Amino acid sequence: MTSTHTSDIAGTVHGLRDTFRAGTTKPLAWRLRQLDALEQLVSSHEKEIAEALASDLGKPEAEAYLTETSFLLTEIRHTRRHLRRWAKARHVAPPAALLPATTSVIAEPLGVVLVMAPWNYPIQLLLAPAVGALAAGNCVVLSPSEVAPASSHLMARLIPRYLDPVAVSVVEGGVDTKTELLAQRFDHIFYTGNSTVGRIVMKAAAEHLTPVTLELGGKSPLYIDDSVDLSVAADRIVWGKFTNAGQTCVAPDYILAPRLVADELAVHLRASIDRMFGPSPAHGGRYGRIINTKHHDRLTAHLADLRDRGVTVLGGEHIDRETRHMDPVIAVDVPWDASVMGEEIFGPILPIVIVDSPSHAMSAINEREKPLALYVFSERTDVRRAFVRDTSSGALTFGLPVGHLAANQLPFGGVGESGMGAYHGRYSFETFSHLKPVVSKPLQPDTMRMVYPPVSGEKLSW
Ligand code: NAD
Repeated sequence: MTSTHTSDIAGTVHGLRDTFRAGTTKPLAWRLRQLDALEQLVSSHEKEIAEALASDLGKPEAEAYLTETSFLLTEIRHTRRHLRRWAKARHVAPPAALLPATTSVIAEPLGVVLVMAPWNYPIQLLLAPAVGALAAGNCVVLSPSEVAPASSHLMARLIPRYLDPVAVSVVEGGVDTKTELLAQRFDHIFYTGNSTVGRIVMKAAAEHLTPVTLELGGKSPLYIDDSVDLSVAADRIVWGKFTNAGQTCVAPDYILAPRLVADELAVHLRASIDRMFGPSPAHGGRYGRIINTKHHDRLTAHLADLRDRGVTVLGGEHIDRETRHMDPVIAVDVPWDASVMGEEIFGPILPIVIVDSPSHAMSAINEREKPLALYVFSERTDVRRAFVRDTSSGALTFGLPVGHLAANQLPFGGVGESGMGAYHGRYSFETFSHLKPVVSKPLQPDTMRMVYPPVSGEKLSW
Protein backbone atom coordinates (compact mmCIF):
# COMPACT_ATOMS: atom_id res chain seq x y z
CA MET A 1 0.00 0.00 0.00
CA THR A 2 1.32 3.44 -0.82
CA SER A 3 -0.19 6.36 0.96
CA THR A 4 0.99 9.90 1.47
CA HIS A 5 1.33 11.13 5.02
CA THR A 6 -0.10 14.50 5.94
CA SER A 7 3.42 15.98 6.19
CA ASP A 8 4.21 14.93 2.59
CA ILE A 9 1.12 16.48 1.05
CA ALA A 10 2.59 19.90 0.24
CA GLY A 11 5.66 18.19 -1.27
CA THR A 12 3.47 15.90 -3.36
CA VAL A 13 1.50 18.80 -4.81
CA HIS A 14 4.72 20.76 -5.52
CA GLY A 15 6.16 17.74 -7.30
CA LEU A 16 3.09 17.47 -9.50
CA ARG A 17 3.26 21.16 -10.28
CA ASP A 18 6.89 20.76 -11.43
CA THR A 19 5.75 17.92 -13.71
CA PHE A 20 2.99 20.07 -15.14
CA ARG A 21 5.34 23.01 -15.73
CA ALA A 22 7.79 20.71 -17.49
CA GLY A 23 5.02 20.02 -20.03
CA THR A 24 5.06 16.24 -19.47
CA THR A 25 1.27 15.87 -19.48
CA LYS A 26 0.41 18.07 -22.46
CA PRO A 27 1.15 15.83 -25.48
CA LEU A 28 -1.82 13.87 -26.75
CA ALA A 29 0.37 10.76 -26.84
CA TRP A 30 0.94 10.99 -23.06
CA ARG A 31 -2.78 11.43 -22.39
CA LEU A 32 -3.70 8.45 -24.59
CA ARG A 33 -1.06 6.33 -22.82
CA GLN A 34 -2.66 7.17 -19.45
CA LEU A 35 -6.08 6.15 -20.75
CA ASP A 36 -4.65 2.86 -22.04
CA ALA A 37 -2.99 2.30 -18.66
CA LEU A 38 -6.22 3.06 -16.81
CA GLU A 39 -8.04 0.56 -19.00
CA GLN A 40 -5.37 -2.02 -18.21
CA LEU A 41 -5.65 -1.29 -14.50
CA VAL A 42 -9.41 -1.80 -14.48
CA SER A 43 -9.59 -4.79 -16.82
CA SER A 44 -6.64 -6.71 -15.35
CA HIS A 45 -7.80 -6.29 -11.76
CA GLU A 46 -11.53 -6.86 -12.13
CA LYS A 47 -11.42 -9.66 -9.56
CA GLU A 48 -9.54 -7.63 -6.93
CA ILE A 49 -11.84 -4.67 -7.54
CA ALA A 50 -14.88 -6.91 -6.98
CA GLU A 51 -13.28 -8.30 -3.79
CA ALA A 52 -12.61 -4.82 -2.40
CA LEU A 53 -16.18 -3.74 -3.14
CA ALA A 54 -17.50 -6.91 -1.52
CA SER A 55 -15.41 -6.20 1.55
CA ASP A 56 -16.51 -2.55 1.83
CA LEU A 57 -20.16 -2.78 0.76
CA GLY A 58 -21.02 -6.46 0.28
CA LYS A 59 -21.47 -5.66 -3.41
CA PRO A 60 -22.41 -8.73 -5.45
CA GLU A 61 -19.88 -9.44 -8.22
CA ALA A 62 -22.36 -8.81 -11.06
CA GLU A 63 -23.34 -5.46 -9.53
CA ALA A 64 -19.67 -4.49 -9.08
CA TYR A 65 -19.11 -5.26 -12.76
CA LEU A 66 -22.18 -3.40 -13.99
CA THR A 67 -21.91 -0.27 -11.85
CA GLU A 68 -18.15 0.16 -11.43
CA THR A 69 -15.85 -1.85 -13.72
CA SER A 70 -17.82 -1.90 -16.95
CA PHE A 71 -19.01 1.67 -16.39
CA LEU A 72 -15.37 2.77 -16.17
CA LEU A 73 -14.26 0.79 -19.20
CA THR A 74 -17.03 2.37 -21.27
CA GLU A 75 -16.07 5.86 -20.11
CA ILE A 76 -12.35 5.27 -20.81
CA ARG A 77 -13.01 3.85 -24.30
CA HIS A 78 -15.46 6.59 -25.22
CA THR A 79 -12.95 9.26 -24.15
CA ARG A 80 -10.06 7.60 -25.99
CA ARG A 81 -12.14 7.32 -29.17
CA HIS A 82 -13.05 11.01 -29.21
CA LEU A 83 -10.05 12.67 -27.56
CA ARG A 84 -8.23 13.74 -30.72
CA ARG A 85 -11.33 15.59 -31.89
CA TRP A 86 -12.06 17.21 -28.52
CA ALA A 87 -8.45 18.36 -28.12
CA LYS A 88 -8.25 19.94 -31.62
CA ALA A 89 -8.48 23.70 -31.99
CA ARG A 90 -12.06 24.57 -32.91
CA HIS A 91 -12.15 27.26 -35.61
CA VAL A 92 -15.04 29.70 -35.43
CA ALA A 93 -16.08 32.45 -37.83
CA PRO A 94 -14.77 35.87 -36.73
CA PRO A 95 -17.25 38.75 -36.49
CA ALA A 96 -17.27 41.23 -39.39
CA ALA A 97 -15.77 43.95 -37.17
CA LEU A 98 -12.57 41.91 -36.70
CA LEU A 99 -12.06 40.90 -40.34
CA PRO A 100 -9.64 39.94 -41.66
CA ALA A 101 -8.78 37.57 -38.78
CA THR A 102 -8.88 33.95 -37.68
CA THR A 103 -10.54 32.95 -34.41
CA SER A 104 -10.43 29.59 -32.65
CA VAL A 105 -10.96 27.95 -29.28
CA ILE A 106 -8.33 25.67 -27.84
CA ALA A 107 -8.74 23.46 -24.78
CA GLU A 108 -5.72 23.79 -22.51
CA PRO A 109 -5.11 21.74 -19.35
CA LEU A 110 -5.69 23.52 -16.05
CA GLY A 111 -2.65 22.25 -14.14
CA VAL A 112 -2.79 20.21 -10.93
CA VAL A 113 -6.28 19.04 -9.99
CA LEU A 114 -7.71 17.29 -6.93
CA VAL A 115 -10.35 14.55 -7.10
CA MET A 116 -12.06 13.65 -3.80
CA ALA A 117 -14.31 10.58 -3.93
CA PRO A 118 -17.04 9.20 -1.66
CA TRP A 119 -17.51 5.66 -0.35
CA ASN A 120 -20.66 4.46 -2.15
CA TYR A 121 -19.11 3.73 -5.58
CA PRO A 122 -15.59 4.15 -4.27
CA ILE A 123 -13.72 3.08 -7.40
CA GLN A 124 -15.99 4.37 -10.16
CA LEU A 125 -16.33 7.80 -8.53
CA LEU A 126 -12.56 8.09 -8.05
CA LEU A 127 -11.51 6.97 -11.52
CA ALA A 128 -14.30 8.39 -13.73
CA PRO A 129 -13.28 12.01 -12.97
CA ALA A 130 -9.63 10.93 -13.42
CA VAL A 131 -10.44 9.89 -17.01
CA GLY A 132 -11.45 13.47 -17.84
CA ALA A 133 -8.61 15.04 -15.86
CA LEU A 134 -5.93 12.94 -17.61
CA ALA A 135 -7.56 13.24 -21.04
CA ALA A 136 -7.39 17.01 -20.62
CA GLY A 137 -3.66 16.80 -19.81
CA ASN A 138 -3.59 17.57 -16.09
CA CYS A 139 -1.60 16.28 -13.14
CA VAL A 140 -3.94 14.71 -10.59
CA VAL A 141 -4.17 14.02 -6.88
CA LEU A 142 -6.67 11.22 -6.35
CA SER A 143 -8.05 11.01 -2.83
CA PRO A 144 -10.32 8.03 -2.16
CA SER A 145 -12.78 7.86 0.72
CA GLU A 146 -11.42 6.45 3.96
CA VAL A 147 -14.93 5.14 4.68
CA ALA A 148 -14.39 2.37 2.05
CA PRO A 149 -10.90 1.24 3.18
CA ALA A 150 -10.47 -1.89 1.03
CA SER A 151 -11.20 0.07 -2.16
CA SER A 152 -9.01 2.96 -1.02
CA HIS A 153 -6.01 0.69 -0.29
CA LEU A 154 -6.44 -1.17 -3.58
CA MET A 155 -6.40 2.09 -5.56
CA ALA A 156 -3.34 3.32 -3.62
CA ARG A 157 -1.54 0.08 -4.50
CA LEU A 158 -2.54 -0.14 -8.18
CA ILE A 159 -2.57 3.43 -9.46
CA PRO A 160 1.20 4.08 -9.11
CA ARG A 161 1.85 0.82 -10.99
CA TYR A 162 -0.19 1.91 -14.02
CA LEU A 163 -0.41 5.70 -14.22
CA ASP A 164 2.61 7.98 -14.63
CA PRO A 165 3.81 8.42 -11.00
CA VAL A 166 5.31 11.85 -11.66
CA ALA A 167 1.88 13.13 -12.73
CA VAL A 168 -0.62 11.17 -10.63
CA SER A 169 -0.58 10.70 -6.84
CA VAL A 170 -2.94 8.90 -4.53
CA VAL A 171 -3.45 10.46 -1.12
CA GLU A 172 -5.34 8.25 1.32
CA GLY A 173 -6.73 9.39 4.61
CA GLY A 174 -9.55 10.83 6.67
CA VAL A 175 -10.61 14.32 7.67
CA ASP A 176 -7.10 15.50 8.76
CA THR A 177 -5.59 14.45 5.45
CA LYS A 178 -8.46 15.99 3.45
CA THR A 179 -8.13 19.23 5.41
CA GLU A 180 -4.41 19.36 4.67
CA LEU A 181 -5.05 18.59 1.02
CA LEU A 182 -7.65 21.34 0.77
CA ALA A 183 -5.15 23.85 2.17
CA GLN A 184 -2.99 23.36 -0.98
CA ARG A 185 -3.37 25.36 -4.12
CA PHE A 186 -5.03 23.41 -6.92
CA ASP A 187 -6.24 24.49 -10.34
CA HIS A 188 -9.53 22.62 -9.96
CA ILE A 189 -11.18 20.59 -7.22
CA PHE A 190 -13.64 17.87 -8.18
CA TYR A 191 -15.55 16.71 -5.10
CA THR A 192 -18.23 14.01 -4.88
CA GLY A 193 -20.04 13.58 -1.57
CA ASN A 194 -22.44 15.29 0.79
CA SER A 195 -23.33 18.97 0.76
CA THR A 196 -21.92 19.71 4.25
CA VAL A 197 -18.43 18.75 3.11
CA GLY A 198 -19.22 20.39 -0.25
CA ARG A 199 -19.39 23.69 1.60
CA ILE A 200 -16.05 22.99 3.35
CA VAL A 201 -14.48 22.25 -0.04
CA MET A 202 -15.86 25.42 -1.60
CA LYS A 203 -14.65 27.60 1.27
CA ALA A 204 -11.15 26.12 1.08
CA ALA A 205 -11.13 26.54 -2.71
CA ALA A 206 -12.14 30.20 -2.39
CA GLU A 207 -8.87 30.87 -0.54
CA HIS A 208 -6.95 30.19 -3.79
CA LEU A 209 -9.75 31.17 -6.21
CA THR A 210 -9.82 27.55 -7.31
CA PRO A 211 -12.83 26.52 -9.40
CA VAL A 212 -14.83 23.56 -8.11
CA THR A 213 -17.13 20.87 -9.39
CA LEU A 214 -19.43 19.66 -6.61
CA GLU A 215 -21.24 16.39 -7.27
CA LEU A 216 -23.62 16.29 -4.31
CA GLY A 217 -26.76 14.41 -3.36
CA GLY A 218 -30.15 15.06 -1.81
CA LYS A 219 -33.62 13.60 -2.10
CA SER A 220 -34.45 12.55 -5.69
CA PRO A 221 -38.25 12.15 -6.06
CA LEU A 222 -40.17 9.84 -8.36
CA TYR A 223 -43.71 10.65 -9.52
CA ILE A 224 -45.92 7.88 -10.87
CA ASP A 225 -49.56 7.86 -12.03
CA ASP A 226 -52.12 5.31 -13.21
CA SER A 227 -51.30 5.67 -16.92
CA VAL A 228 -48.31 3.29 -16.73
CA ASP A 229 -47.83 -0.46 -16.45
CA LEU A 230 -47.18 -0.66 -12.71
CA SER A 231 -45.54 -4.07 -12.87
CA VAL A 232 -42.82 -2.96 -15.33
CA ALA A 233 -42.44 0.35 -13.48
CA ALA A 234 -42.01 -1.51 -10.17
CA ASP A 235 -39.13 -3.58 -11.56
CA ARG A 236 -37.33 -0.46 -12.74
CA ILE A 237 -37.92 1.37 -9.47
CA VAL A 238 -36.73 -1.58 -7.36
CA TRP A 239 -33.60 -1.91 -9.47
CA GLY A 240 -32.84 1.84 -9.25
CA LYS A 241 -33.56 2.05 -5.54
CA PHE A 242 -32.11 -1.14 -4.07
CA THR A 243 -28.94 -1.55 -6.13
CA ASN A 244 -26.06 -1.03 -3.67
CA ALA A 245 -28.68 -1.34 -0.87
CA GLY A 246 -30.04 2.10 -1.74
CA GLN A 247 -26.66 3.85 -1.33
CA THR A 248 -26.71 5.57 -4.72
CA CYS A 249 -26.74 9.35 -5.14
CA VAL A 250 -29.37 9.15 -7.90
CA ALA A 251 -31.49 6.38 -6.36
CA PRO A 252 -35.16 7.41 -6.17
CA ASP A 253 -35.34 8.67 -2.59
CA TYR A 254 -39.14 8.66 -2.30
CA ILE A 255 -42.24 8.15 -4.46
CA LEU A 256 -45.10 10.58 -4.98
CA ALA A 257 -48.29 8.82 -6.08
CA PRO A 258 -52.07 9.14 -5.94
CA ARG A 259 -53.65 6.93 -3.23
CA LEU A 260 -54.96 4.16 -5.53
CA VAL A 261 -51.66 3.93 -7.41
CA ALA A 262 -49.68 3.83 -4.14
CA ASP A 263 -51.48 0.78 -2.78
CA GLU A 264 -51.25 -1.20 -6.01
CA LEU A 265 -47.66 -0.14 -6.66
CA ALA A 266 -46.59 -1.27 -3.18
CA VAL A 267 -47.76 -4.82 -3.98
CA HIS A 268 -45.85 -4.79 -7.29
CA LEU A 269 -42.72 -3.39 -5.60
CA ARG A 270 -42.82 -6.18 -3.03
CA ALA A 271 -43.13 -8.80 -5.80
CA SER A 272 -40.22 -7.21 -7.73
CA ILE A 273 -38.02 -7.31 -4.63
CA ASP A 274 -38.72 -11.02 -4.22
CA ARG A 275 -38.01 -11.68 -7.90
CA MET A 276 -34.74 -9.73 -7.96
CA PHE A 277 -33.23 -10.47 -4.57
CA GLY A 278 -34.99 -13.67 -3.49
CA PRO A 279 -37.13 -14.26 -0.39
CA SER A 280 -34.22 -13.41 1.94
CA PRO A 281 -32.15 -10.64 0.26
CA ALA A 282 -29.58 -10.59 3.06
CA HIS A 283 -28.67 -14.22 2.37
CA GLY A 284 -29.20 -14.47 -1.38
CA GLY A 285 -25.85 -13.03 -2.56
CA ARG A 286 -27.57 -10.56 -4.91
CA TYR A 287 -27.92 -7.65 -2.51
CA GLY A 288 -25.34 -5.42 -0.78
CA ARG A 289 -25.08 -4.14 2.76
CA ILE A 290 -24.83 -0.84 4.63
CA ILE A 291 -21.40 0.80 4.67
CA ASN A 292 -21.00 1.08 8.46
CA THR A 293 -22.79 0.82 11.81
CA LYS A 294 -23.36 4.58 12.02
CA HIS A 295 -25.41 4.53 8.82
CA HIS A 296 -27.11 1.26 9.83
CA ASP A 297 -28.20 2.88 13.11
CA ARG A 298 -29.43 5.98 11.27
CA LEU A 299 -31.57 3.84 8.96
CA THR A 300 -33.02 1.66 11.74
CA ALA A 301 -33.97 4.86 13.61
CA HIS A 302 -35.96 5.98 10.51
CA LEU A 303 -37.70 2.61 10.46
CA ALA A 304 -38.55 2.85 14.16
CA ASP A 305 -40.01 6.33 13.57
CA LEU A 306 -42.21 4.98 10.74
CA ARG A 307 -43.41 2.08 12.91
CA ASP A 308 -44.11 4.43 15.87
CA ARG A 309 -46.32 6.50 13.57
CA GLY A 310 -48.29 3.43 12.48
CA VAL A 311 -47.16 3.71 8.84
CA THR A 312 -47.65 0.50 6.78
CA VAL A 313 -44.21 -1.02 6.32
CA LEU A 314 -43.57 -3.89 3.88
CA GLY A 315 -40.30 -5.86 3.95
CA GLY A 316 -37.39 -5.19 6.27
CA GLU A 317 -37.69 -8.69 7.76
CA HIS A 318 -33.97 -9.18 8.17
CA ILE A 319 -32.05 -6.37 9.86
CA ASP A 320 -28.74 -7.17 11.52
CA ARG A 321 -26.53 -4.52 13.08
CA GLU A 322 -23.59 -6.91 13.37
CA THR A 323 -23.45 -7.79 9.65
CA ARG A 324 -24.92 -4.40 8.61
CA HIS A 325 -27.66 -6.04 6.54
CA MET A 326 -31.00 -4.39 5.97
CA ASP A 327 -33.65 -5.95 3.73
CA PRO A 328 -35.48 -3.58 1.35
CA VAL A 329 -38.37 -1.68 2.96
CA ILE A 330 -41.43 -0.08 1.33
CA ALA A 331 -43.42 2.35 3.48
CA VAL A 332 -46.88 3.43 2.27
CA ASP A 333 -48.55 6.78 2.98
CA VAL A 334 -45.62 8.39 4.75
CA PRO A 335 -46.28 11.84 6.26
CA TRP A 336 -43.96 14.70 5.29
CA ASP A 337 -42.86 15.16 8.90
CA ALA A 338 -41.59 11.56 9.28
CA SER A 339 -37.84 11.56 10.00
CA VAL A 340 -37.19 9.64 6.76
CA MET A 341 -38.48 12.64 4.78
CA GLY A 342 -36.15 15.05 6.59
CA GLU A 343 -32.85 13.93 5.00
CA GLU A 344 -31.45 12.00 2.04
CA ILE A 345 -32.23 8.37 2.94
CA PHE A 346 -29.20 6.77 1.27
CA GLY A 347 -30.35 3.29 2.22
CA PRO A 348 -32.97 0.63 1.40
CA ILE A 349 -36.09 2.42 2.65
CA LEU A 350 -38.55 3.57 -0.02
CA PRO A 351 -41.34 5.83 1.29
CA ILE A 352 -44.46 6.47 -0.77
CA VAL A 353 -46.08 9.86 -0.12
CA ILE A 354 -49.67 10.37 -1.29
CA VAL A 355 -50.40 13.28 -3.63
CA ASP A 356 -53.68 14.31 -5.25
CA SER A 357 -52.40 15.31 -8.69
CA PRO A 358 -49.28 15.99 -10.78
CA SER A 359 -49.48 19.68 -9.84
CA HIS A 360 -49.60 18.73 -6.15
CA ALA A 361 -46.48 16.58 -6.73
CA MET A 362 -44.73 19.42 -8.57
CA SER A 363 -45.45 21.95 -5.83
CA ALA A 364 -44.11 19.52 -3.21
CA ILE A 365 -40.93 19.13 -5.29
CA ASN A 366 -40.57 22.85 -5.97
CA GLU A 367 -40.94 23.74 -2.27
CA ARG A 368 -37.83 21.67 -1.52
CA GLU A 369 -34.17 21.83 -2.60
CA LYS A 370 -33.49 21.13 -6.28
CA PRO A 371 -32.88 17.38 -6.57
CA LEU A 372 -30.00 15.63 -8.31
CA ALA A 373 -32.54 13.67 -10.35
CA LEU A 374 -36.29 13.67 -10.86
CA TYR A 375 -38.09 10.63 -12.24
CA VAL A 376 -41.52 10.58 -13.82
CA PHE A 377 -43.58 7.54 -14.78
CA SER A 378 -46.54 8.80 -16.80
CA GLU A 379 -47.75 8.21 -20.35
CA ARG A 380 -49.69 11.51 -20.33
CA THR A 381 -48.12 14.06 -22.65
CA ASP A 382 -49.45 17.06 -20.71
CA VAL A 383 -48.00 15.67 -17.45
CA ARG A 384 -44.61 15.02 -19.03
CA ARG A 385 -44.54 18.52 -20.57
CA ALA A 386 -45.47 20.09 -17.24
CA PHE A 387 -42.60 18.33 -15.44
CA VAL A 388 -40.10 19.50 -18.08
CA ARG A 389 -41.41 23.07 -17.98
CA ASP A 390 -42.21 23.58 -14.29
CA THR A 391 -39.52 21.74 -12.30
CA SER A 392 -35.74 22.04 -11.96
CA SER A 393 -33.37 19.15 -11.20
CA GLY A 394 -29.88 17.86 -12.10
CA ALA A 395 -31.57 15.47 -14.55
CA LEU A 396 -35.13 14.54 -15.50
CA THR A 397 -35.98 11.12 -16.86
CA PHE A 398 -39.22 9.44 -17.90
CA GLY A 399 -39.68 5.75 -17.26
CA LEU A 400 -36.20 4.90 -15.97
CA PRO A 401 -34.49 5.86 -12.72
CA VAL A 402 -30.65 6.00 -12.57
CA GLY A 403 -30.08 4.96 -16.23
CA HIS A 404 -29.04 8.45 -17.39
CA LEU A 405 -25.75 7.90 -15.54
CA ALA A 406 -24.70 5.43 -18.21
CA ALA A 407 -25.08 7.87 -21.13
CA ASN A 408 -21.66 9.46 -21.49
CA GLN A 409 -23.04 11.79 -24.18
CA LEU A 410 -25.07 13.51 -21.44
CA PRO A 411 -23.75 15.90 -18.76
CA PHE A 412 -24.05 14.42 -15.27
CA GLY A 413 -24.34 16.82 -12.35
CA GLY A 414 -26.61 18.64 -9.94
CA VAL A 415 -28.15 22.07 -9.64
CA GLY A 416 -28.59 24.22 -6.54
CA GLU A 417 -28.17 22.13 -3.39
CA SER A 418 -27.47 18.98 -5.46
CA GLY A 419 -24.27 20.43 -6.88
CA MET A 420 -22.57 22.50 -9.56
CA GLY A 421 -20.75 21.60 -12.75
CA ALA A 422 -21.06 18.37 -14.69
CA TYR A 423 -18.98 15.53 -16.11
CA HIS A 424 -18.88 12.31 -18.18
CA GLY A 425 -17.53 12.07 -21.71
CA ARG A 426 -16.85 15.42 -23.36
CA TYR A 427 -18.24 17.28 -20.33
CA SER A 428 -15.43 15.81 -18.18
CA PHE A 429 -12.82 16.86 -20.73
CA GLU A 430 -14.19 20.42 -20.72
CA THR A 431 -14.53 20.51 -16.91
CA PHE A 432 -10.80 19.87 -16.61
CA SER A 433 -9.81 22.24 -19.47
CA HIS A 434 -9.67 25.98 -19.93
CA LEU A 435 -11.35 26.89 -23.21
CA LYS A 436 -8.98 29.55 -24.49
CA PRO A 437 -9.97 31.84 -27.37
CA VAL A 438 -7.12 32.50 -29.77
CA VAL A 439 -7.46 35.47 -32.13
CA SER A 440 -5.03 36.33 -34.90
CA LYS A 441 -5.34 39.50 -36.97
CA PRO A 442 -2.81 40.57 -39.61
CA LEU A 443 -1.34 44.08 -39.24
CA GLN A 444 -2.17 44.82 -42.89
CA PRO A 445 -4.70 45.88 -44.03
CA ASP A 446 -4.97 48.03 -40.90
CA THR A 447 -8.76 48.04 -40.55
CA MET A 448 -8.51 49.06 -36.88
CA ARG A 449 -7.85 52.64 -38.00
CA MET A 450 -11.61 52.86 -38.57
CA VAL A 451 -12.27 52.84 -34.81
CA TYR A 452 -9.36 54.92 -33.49
CA PRO A 453 -10.25 58.39 -32.12
CA PRO A 454 -11.11 60.85 -33.41
CA VAL A 455 -13.99 58.88 -34.93
CA SER A 456 -15.73 60.83 -37.68
CA GLY A 457 -19.32 60.39 -38.84
CA GLU A 458 -17.95 59.13 -42.14
CA LYS A 459 -16.02 56.33 -40.34
CA LEU A 460 -19.04 55.37 -38.24
CA SER A 461 -21.31 55.00 -41.26
CA TRP A 462 -18.84 52.39 -42.55
P1 NAD B 1 -17.63 10.45 2.36
O1 NAD B 1 -17.97 10.51 3.80
O2 NAD B 1 -16.75 9.34 1.88
O3 NAD B 1 -17.05 11.85 1.95
C1 NAD B 1 -16.67 12.20 0.63
C2 NAD B 1 -15.26 12.77 0.69
O4 NAD B 1 -15.21 13.86 1.58
C3 NAD B 1 -14.26 11.74 1.17
O5 NAD B 1 -13.11 11.83 0.35
C4 NAD B 1 -13.99 12.18 2.58
O6 NAD B 1 -12.70 11.82 3.02
C5 NAD B 1 -14.13 13.68 2.50
N1 NAD B 1 -14.48 14.31 3.77
C6 NAD B 1 -15.34 13.84 4.71
N2 NAD B 1 -15.42 14.70 5.74
C7 NAD B 1 -14.60 15.75 5.47
C8 NAD B 1 -14.25 16.98 6.14
N3 NAD B 1 -14.80 17.29 7.32
N4 NAD B 1 -13.37 17.79 5.54
C9 NAD B 1 -12.85 17.50 4.34
N5 NAD B 1 -13.13 16.36 3.65
C10 NAD B 1 -13.98 15.50 4.21
O7 NAD B 1 -18.95 10.31 1.48
P2 NAD B 1 -20.37 10.95 1.73
O8 NAD B 1 -20.30 12.42 1.66
O9 NAD B 1 -21.02 10.30 2.91
O10 NAD B 1 -21.08 10.38 0.41
C11 NAD B 1 -22.44 10.27 0.32
C12 NAD B 1 -23.03 11.55 -0.27
O11 NAD B 1 -22.47 11.75 -1.55
C13 NAD B 1 -24.51 11.48 -0.49
O12 NAD B 1 -25.08 12.71 -0.18
C14 NAD B 1 -24.63 11.19 -1.98
O13 NAD B 1 -25.86 11.59 -2.54
C15 NAD B 1 -23.48 11.97 -2.51
N6 NAD B 1 -23.04 11.41 -3.77
C16 NAD B 1 -23.17 12.20 -4.88
C17 NAD B 1 -22.79 11.67 -6.12
C18 NAD B 1 -22.93 12.48 -7.37
O14 NAD B 1 -22.38 12.04 -8.37
N7 NAD B 1 -23.60 13.61 -7.36
C19 NAD B 1 -22.28 10.38 -6.19
C20 NAD B 1 -22.15 9.64 -5.04
C21 NAD B 1 -22.53 10.18 -3.82
